[in-house]
Amino acid sequence: MADTWVTDLTHFLTDEGEIGPKSGPARKLVEYFTEIVVDATTEPWEEPGKKSVRCRRRPGRRRCAGVIETDIDPDTDAIMWWCPVCRDKGSINHWQGSRWDRAKDVQSR
Ligand SMILES: [Zn+2]
Repeated sequence: MADTWVTDLTHFLTDEGEIGPKSGPARKLVEYFTEIVVDATTEPWEEPGKKSVRCRRRPGRRRCAGVIETDIDPDTDAIMWWCPVCRDKGSINHWQGSRWDRAKDVQSR
């Protein structure tokens, strides 16, 4: 069984809510998580041009062809994400109110 990435978005952000790491793999990873937050908080019909989140894994050095699927756990409010191809998966906590939380924008409109 694959490991589950359990992440707390606030751990990766500065006090201003910016992505903490400025460059390198760490930043790439945080950007990946923020894309997942956008995906999970946006309905497809709200942003027709929205690009899907590609799986970042490279099993056997070949990029996984999977597209990340997302859902919000109704009990914990955590964002659940998984790759249907390689089974990479994880959860993101404390994403609410971050600048990638599109649901927040909808509510304040
Ligand atoms: Zn994958």
